[in-house]
Amino acid sequence: MNIAIIGSGLTGSLAAISLANAGCRVDLYERLSDEELINRDRTYAITHSSRRILENLGIWSNLVSELVPFQYLNLIDYELNKKVQFLITDLCKSDQKYSAVGWIAEHKKIMLSILDFISEIDSINKIPTSVIPNTNNYDLIVAADGSNSTTKKRLKTPSFSFNYDQVCITARVLLRGIKSNHAFEILNSEGPFAVLPLGGDLFQIICSQSIVKGTYNMSLSKSLFLDYLSTILPYGIEPDSIVGEIKSFPINFIYNYSFFSGKYVYLGETAHKIHPVGGQGLNLCWRDVDCLAKLTSISFFKNNPSIIPLIYSLSRFVDVLSISILTDSLVRYSRMNYNIFVLPRLFIFLILKKLSFIRYFMLNAMTNGF
Ligand SMILES: Cc1cc2nc3c(=O)[nH]c(=O)nc-3n(C[C@H](O)[C@H](O)[C@H](O)COP(=O)(O)OP(=O)(O)OC[C@H]3O[C@@H](n4cnc5c(N)ncnc54)[C@H](O)[C@@H]3O)c2cc1C
Repeated sequence: MNIAIIGSGLTGSLAAISLANAGCRVDLYERLSDEELINRDRTYAITHSSRRILENLGIWSNLVSELVPFQYLNLIDYELNKKVQFLITDLCKSDQKYSAVGWIAEHKKIMLSILDFISEIDSINKIPTSVIPNTNNYDLIVAADGSNSTTKKRLKTPSFSFNYDQVCITARVLLRGIKSNHAFEILNSEGPFAVLPLGGDLFQIICSQSIVKGTYNMSLSKSLFLDYLSTILPYGIEPDSIVGEIKSFPINFIYNYSFFSGKYVYLGETAHKIHPVGGQGLNLCWRDVDCLAKLTSISFFKNNPSIIPLIYSLSRFVDVLSISILTDSLVRYSRMNYNIFVLPRLFIFLILKKLSFIRYFMLNAMTNGF
């Protein structure tokens, strides 16, 4: 099968490797240079579903030494002053042997590793342009050109979208009073925020808050921002200094009503975009890749490529919708600080704390999808 991929971000690049692995010839179109693709300042939470995909492609063994594993995921509700800890034993048996609830990865390291891998594969042809000269040459065209996809706009594919009335602030901070194998998801009335280990005392803070508060916090000097952080970090954790720049970006939600149009299939943020604080975004994008690659490796679909887009779209519906709703619910749950919600929130925390099968269900849904 001849396939064109538009966009060589983490989704498009992994799709190129997976589809080449499934026996396809791939033309990978990207308007940016490799250097520009690598030099993005982002940090991702990697779950077991992504670990499995990278392992099957033979990328995991080279990459794992670049990732920071964590063994404890602490969920804290500030309004209730309660904490639940998810442990390795809450994972399914086959994931437990990896001794990590998840991993934290810096964009540069994953992108570099994946681009190196692509350079070794003869059936991937990288083309440095944004225009496909002749779409008739391809059995399938994969649009992985991101949340502002021009392909999707051109094909007029409808989607449900809205902007959160929040911004996301990210910063790398040296912290005291925290172990390097702990990650935190903190539910705060301003919005959820995450504290992710980057090795040693270095942690990534990803914090969502109202646009007004976020704009104010972005105007603070680093030392005043550190003072602010000390007020929102869990008791006993102290920020020492900020490494690099504090950044902020707007947050929006996108869900395509359909993940295909004709022979075009939408992968990754071209199809769906969710709030970043749940740490699900990239993992969901890579499960799209895995699904498409599995379909193209089936000989029936190889002989009938025109039905792949529809089957792909139907196959991804439940996982993407469920994770989008779960992540959005986490944001809304975090912000509903009215008294009437105290009892239901207490109940949720109580069952999470007392019933290991509920923790098992929650953690496995967030790590392996639906
Ligand atoms: C500012 C920012 C910060 C983020 N931080 C985090 C984070 O901390 N944690 C996290 O999990 N996620 C984060 N995300 C989301 C995360 O980056 C995405 O989930 C991830 O990059 C996968 O996206 P993608 O490959 O689908 O799209 P992108 O990464 O957007 O890749 C799309 C690619 O398509 C290319 N392209 C676009 N149009 C064309 C065209 N016409 N022709 C050819 N190429 C084209 C673009 O140059 C780009 O390389 C962040 C996103 C943004 C914007």
